[in-house]
Amino acid sequence: MYLGIDDTDSPEGMCTTYLGALIAASLKEQGCLIKNMRLIRLNPNVPWKTRGNAGVCIELDGDAGLIRDTACDFIERYAQFDCSNTNPGFVLVAEKPSPDFYYKALRSFCTVEEAEAELKSLRAEYCGWKNRRGLIGALAAVSAVLPDKTCEYLSYRMPEAFGTPRVYDAASFKRSAEETSPHTWDTWDFSADKPVCLPHGKDPVLFGIRGESPECVEKAVSLVSAEPESMHVIWETNQGTDAHLVPFEGEFTEGVSYVYSGEVTGVPVEHRGGHVSVPLTDVECYAFEPTKSFRAYVRQLIPGDKITVCGGYLNGVLHFEKFSLDEASPLESRISPRCPVCGGRMTSAGRGKGYKCRECSARIREPQYIPRDISPGWYEVPPDARRHLAKPVVRMGGSDGE
Ligand code: ATP
Repeated sequence: MYLGIDDTDSPEGMCTTYLGALIAASLKEQGCLIKNMRLIRLNPNVPWKTRGNAGVCIELDGDAGLIRDTACDFIERYAQFDCSNTNPGFVLVAEKPSPDFYYKALRSFCTVEEAEAELKSLRAEYCGWKNRRGLIGALAAVSAVLPDKTCEYLSYRMPEAFGTPRVYDAASFKRSAEETSPHTWDTWDFSADKPVCLPHGKDPVLFGIRGESPECVEKAVSLVSAEPESMHVIWETNQGTDAHLVPFEGEFTEGVSYVYSGEVTGVPVEHRGGHVSVPLTDVECYAFEPTKSFRAYVRQLIPGDKITVCGGYLNGVLHFEKFSLDEASPLESRISPRCPVCGGRMTSAGRGKGYKCRECSARIREPQYIPRDISPGWYEVPPDARRHLAKPVVRMGGSDGE
């Protein structure tokens, strides 16, 4: 059976993965066989998400009535019902549904009515609380297929530690990242020299280590030292796979994330607040202030560069997640050379047309180029600013611009 839950937390506490872990532990104690735990990220551009827009799916064998009663009991006891934006959903199906609903929730927008119609046609057990929006994420999670997948080892705090500062040895996280990269990522931000895998809020997560396989994340965890955990789960996930991206086919739709190839048509522009934008053939592309050191790469772009951008289309502009410089435009020197005949001053004969000597009229037909400060390859935002679904460059098998 496939049990899906979503939308149980609030910025003040709880985490749907933690609730999923508690439910799985209880069901195991009651004799169910837990076969797989999945953490499924959905469209990162939905405005009503709490944090990273995730739902969970537990694949298990057991009695349907027991599973339903246990899951609903835990949701009613632990979900943050006081938060106006918390609208839990629970779904139980005997067979995996078609992935269509998952792909729509991952790459576009769904309604509760659509989810309910699909649940009815599947003859699923389901329950939605308050405005029942959580049914969307719960159904998407049980319908998910993962042609590419990664793992996340989520370590949960002791309940008595919730809300207190996390205690850990930062240096051990850095060592763990150094020793297990590129098979793990997003443990340490080497450009800002700080850990990124420990949240700061009141939620139950102590840390999350992401990697290619259970073995890779277990090895990384064996190298870190932190306060005691109450439990952990190695989740199978669609994180770091770019599953949310669709190819651009002539038109941008608000809230969809794209892979878009185009040409730089103007120079990068600095905006108030530290944001940097660059015009491309069909769209304006923004690197916002939280993308920090990544903006330096965007500032290096010049008209004529051919680039491929991955990013979400929001408020009429594309938000960079990463870009590849596919073809660098030659950069002409603004300093005119000395005349090879008389040694006099030369002036430009026009863009790409070389130079003419002011004194003796000698000509150099080839323009002089200067080396670019950026080379072809991929450039990505730092881990802190990365979408959960965005594939890190270390997973792309190509060159890394860093
Ligand atoms: P949590 O840890 O509780 O899962 P979150 O950041 O994942 O936090 P939620 O609190 O789950 O965010 O809020 C996201 C809400 O949006 C859920 O109710 C989910 O069902 C719904 N949702 C997810 N994807 C879509 C979509 N593509 N279209 C419409 N609603 C969606």
